[in-house]
Amino acid sequence: MTLGRVGQVSDCLFCKIVAKEIPAEIVYETGRTLAFRDINPQAPTHALVIPKEHHADAAALAAADDGLADEVLKTAHAVAVQEGVADGGYRVVFNTGAGAGQTVFHVHAHILGGRALTWPPG
Ligand code: 5GP
Repeated sequence: MTLGRVGQVSDCLFCKIVAKEIPAEIVYETGRTLAFRDINPQAPTHALVIPKEHHADAAALAAADDGLADEVLKTAHAVAVQEGVADGGYRVVFNTGAGAGQTVFHVHAHILGGRALTWPPG
């Protein structure tokens, strides 16, 4: 991996979204987090919440231990409220590792809502 601007990785898709090098429909932003719509939505509301700083997955984010994981979770809930899905129930999913379906290795929380969500997920 190549390190670019502070905390970002030049060949990372989501770092490019943070840097506005790739367009995304941004729905919420804080100093250290960004939320944007998933390009291939799996529910009426499907947003991704990321830390602007690059961490590969949820385990790496947890290990950062500087309040950033907290901020990602708070942004996730703020997005659910803003999207109007908080009361009806919504899901926050961190696919962690290729075996769990992670395809973009910049940690992201999927925020899914607006339809009945079944359990267990596939
Ligand atoms: P994962 O499979 O890693 O948990 O989730 C990656 C998510 O990123 C997928 O839901 C996929 O649709 C989404 N995604 C992949 N490329 C892009 C993109 O260029 N823009 C946006 N907005 N979402 C993307």
